[in-house]
Amino acid sequence: MRALSLPYILLAIAPATLGAPGPGPRSAQQQQFHLAAQAVSAVSGSQAPLPDPPAQGHVQLLDSDGKHERYDGHQVWRLDWARLSTRVKDNILNAADSLGLDIWRASSTTFDVRVPPLSQSILRSLLPADLVSTYIPDVQALLDSAPVADDPLPGDGGDDDDVWNVTTLASPFHDGYHTLDQVYQFGEALVSHFNIVTSYDIGTTAEGRPIRAWSAKIDEEATPGIPEDGGDAHDENDKFEFIIQANQHAREWVSSSAAMYFLHSLVLDATADSTSHAAQLLRTFTFTVVAVVNPDGFTYSHEHSRLWRKNRQDVGGLLCKADSPGIDLNGNWGHKFVPSRLACSESYSGQTAFEAHETRAMADYLVNGSNPEAGRTLPIKAFIDLHSYGQLFMFPFAYSCADFPPDAENLMEAGLGVAKAMRMTTQGEGYQTGQACDLTYRSAGDAIDYSYAVADVRWSYSAELRDTGTYGFVLPPHLIRPTGEEVSAGLRYLATFIFDTEIDL
Ligand SMILES: [Zn+2]
Repeated sequence: MRALSLPYILLAIAPATLGAPGPGPRSAQQQQFHLAAQAVSAVSGSQAPLPDPPAQGHVQLLDSDGKHERYDGHQVWRLDWARLSTRVKDNILNAADSLGLDIWRASSTTFDVRVPPLSQSILRSLLPADLVSTYIPDVQALLDSAPVADDPLPGDGGDDDDVWNVTTLASPFHDGYHTLDQVYQFGEALVSHFNIVTSYDIGTTAEGRPIRAWSAKIDEEATPGIPEDGGDAHDENDKFEFIIQANQHAREWVSSSAAMYFLHSLVLDATADSTSHAAQLLRTFTFTVVAVVNPDGFTYSHEHSRLWRKNRQDVGGLLCKADSPGIDLNGNWGHKFVPSRLACSESYSGQTAFEAHETRAMADYLVNGSNPEAGRTLPIKAFIDLHSYGQLFMFPFAYSCADFPPDAENLMEAGLGVAKAMRMTTQGEGYQTGQACDLTYRSAGDAIDYSYAVADVRWSYSAELRDTGTYGFVLPPHLIRPTGEEVSAGLRYLATFIFDTEIDL
């Protein structure tokens, strides 16, 4: 490491990507580059000789505080690849992986990728011009235009200290993005102020942080469940769990914001009026929210690299640009898991399923509940995995479209209703519904495949929240509330649909 002139510090020229200088790694990576370049040039069918890799490797710039990674000149390109064959798409994906590029979104029709300045000209020369458009011309400029409020933890967080004003949905919590400590503090404020909310830790990360869950339910045996016609009373045998997890991917901040918004709005509505629909839902379902299932990565995305995706587990990978390359949690679940080759890759899914502390903890929770000794007593009806971005609401399977779930028709029907409920909110956006393999691209070892096929959760969905690429992961804070509204409306619709379809028979 060596310091350069302010305001930036050149931290490292890491050989993770394009042929870094130096004897050993250089030749191997040059080789890798040429393989990748060959794959990309297959898109255009060009016979031209392959260009040399850039002279330098990945340059990681830090802000003047020496902590935050900068993305000056980084661009997000969108490849319009609806017309490309699967083979060519695979080539491009593999090439992007080999080059250590950061894939933002891969669907069946579009491919968004962040390209650092050093790689731009060489990739331009390899890809047909009409295939590529520059979607975000300068990632750092976008980050600077929507600075994250770095507000300190207000108050001392004591029991009576409603620092977030949780008695109203107007709480300032929903107006900005927050650190892990602040998210946890907000969750504990819900526990303090609403006796229908409890919290517990479902596991611990590689760096020792707790993975916290908040559950809300109403125990009132004598009160009818959902039906507004005063239907049958429900006993413990008719109660179910509805689980929401978010922020598997560290940088997808709006996912945990929306999860907490959903929980908050549900609890507020239920406590304001015991006959409300929200209260009726809470008599049938225990809603459990694991808002930040990847606390280490989330913290790292706040404190160092805003665009960090994986967890922070040490998996070797000494040559990666980051000191601890981590595991992509949403490739590490134990159904149709595929081991990864490249530890530096943004989609590195680990060597074995559930190698990541976080996926292991969450899977244990799905199987055993909050009391592993007693085992799970509350059957799970729904498991929702929140991500951003792309505005999609998807059912299994993600790993392959050849595997069609027996419940597909019902899952599609409910999903269409969810999308409609989301769109019908005040500022609602359109969401696409379908099978995950169809709407996204590579997703082996996906959470919802595991929850559906192994944990036997029939209503398993994953959602890509706002937006469709204008801001991508850098969604401005003023869009947190509308996204939270959409998620709240969609999940309430789903819970009601499940109740009507298979509980209130
Ligand atoms: Zn994600």
